[in-house]
Amino acid sequence: MYQIAVMEGDGIGPEIVKETVKVLQAVQSLAGDLQLELRWLPVGLQAYETHGSTLPAETLEGLRQCHAGILGPVTTHVYDTEADMVNPSGMLRKTFDLYANIRPAKSFPGVTSRYDNVDMVIVRENTEGMYADRNLFAGQGEFMPDPDTVLSLRVVTRKASERLAKVGFELAKTRQQSLAVVHKKNVLRKGCGLFYDSCLEVGKAYEEVAIRDYHVDAFALYLVQKPEAFDVVVTTNMFGDILSDQAAGLVGGLGLAPGLNLGDQFMIAQATHGSAPEIAGKNIANPVAEILSAALMLEWLGIRNQDASAERAAALIRRGVERTLREGNKTQDIHGSLTTSEYGDALVQAIEQLQ
Ligand code: ATP
Ligand code: MG
Repeated sequence: MYQIAVMEGDGIGPEIVKETVKVLQAVQSLAGDLQLELRWLPVGLQAYETHGSTLPAETLEGLRQCHAGILGPVTTHVYDTEADMVNPSGMLRKTFDLYANIRPAKSFPGVTSRYDNVDMVIVRENTEGMYADRNLFAGQGEFMPDPDTVLSLRVVTRKASERLAKVGFELAKTRQQSLAVVHKKNVLRKGCGLFYDSCLEVGKAYEEVAIRDYHVDAFALYLVQKPEAFDVVVTTNMFGDILSDQAAGLVGGLGLAPGLNLGDQFMIAQATHGSAPEIAGKNIANPVAEILSAALMLEWLGIRNQDASAERAAALIRRGVERTLREGNKTQDIHGSLTTSEYGDALVQAIEQLQ
């Protein structure tokens, strides 16, 4: 039995999380002895209205009793400008030390895109580097020594690099046994150098995995020239952010790009896209990215607990999504005509037919 936290988030969050829950409930009854206990916890702008905080204490308390959580997107730019609001996404990563951000990009039959044979996973460092470090020194990680100059810190540690690499190698072992380390160590000799050295050090324990390494600029080039050449990719925070959006673009867009924030004790599934406020409340958002994020969560719960029923449930969801897309059941953003809730229903039906 897994306790799963359900956090809706902002914008299109509540709509896509609702469909994700629908799908989890459907696979639960089909995937043998998988048992999920869902527990709704408040986060985001709604929680601010009802609980006076975007990440209330009762939510943190509730999460500590769960095995994993699913989280809708949050409207990042609001949190960055309102002093009394914390960004729940960032704070949850920090609180639960969710140090690896797993972002697969896979081609789908029935989705028009520039490539049709992409199947890669970007494993992005999630706790340090340019984005995270702006919050160091009470928000002074990015600071102005004079009104016309900005200095930005970027921290790279051996510990963060090694544990990230380990997740990458573990994943590569279950896939094509190939891992690419992406860096810029010819210029950022110390920071990227330490990241690279750490990855190679960890790699010594994974003889079966072939390691290649790329400068980030060259990698961006190869990613459009021959994306099918890549399997697992490990990289630092900002490079991973940019490259995973690029990878999502190769296979049909943000509405299909899942993500998992993984730590040693806890994990949170969250689509990589934002809260898309301009289409919120219209029942047109694509829930696939959030649904596939929940499938990733089940897959890792399965890997961590050696639980075949969780892995089976993850595979069922994935095959169900492939089937809906192949049959043309999709939302507007990928040239279909279904609403968010119609898509959820179509997916549940597809999953039931797979059984
Ligand atoms: P953030 O700073 O939170 O990442 P962003 O400005 O990058 O936000 P996103 O919300 O990630 O913006 O996405 C950009 C655009 O892509 C959205 O405005 C929306 O039009 C579209 N989009 C993103 N996710 C979806 C989705 N699930 N379904 C349909 N359209 C989407
Ligand atoms: Mg974005």
